[in-house]
Amino acid sequence: MQVTFEKKIENDFPEFRFKKGKKFAFHPPKTIILGPNEPFDELLTLHEISHAILGHKDFKTGVGRLKMEAEAWEKAKELAALYGVEIDDDFIQWELDTYRDWLHKKSRCPKCGLTRFQTQDGDYHCPRCENLV
Ligand SMILES: [Zn+2]
Ligand SMILES: [Zn+2]
Repeated sequence: MQVTFEKKIENDFPEFRFKKGKKFAFHPPKTIILGPNEPFDELLTLHEISHAILGHKDFKTGVGRLKMEAEAWEKAKELAALYGVEIDDDFIQWELDTYRDWLHKKSRCPKCGLTRFQTQDGDYHCPRCENLV
């Protein structure tokens, strides 16, 4: 990532705290972790800022998380246009797919392999093992 881009972002968003870390992340309510240099680091930076702008919190439900990711990418695209950062839709799709895979794996019942459902409190329930059907 170019130092100038990072400086610009820090100047434009004084309300957020920027820290260096091992990977790009957003820690609610306003800490943005900047990961190492990588091909899409500027886009990832804008994505994490988008989470902060949108006021995202930790969602307990996996579906809520996926929705949040999609929203943050939409916002990141707007910001990318403003900052002249190249938008790579394939990369964004790939990022979202990793969440979908994660969600899918997480939702499988470890005992029987059936897809479980999540209640508002974030707990997973297996319709078969919990005799709900
Ligand atoms: Zn995200
Ligand atoms: Zn089960």
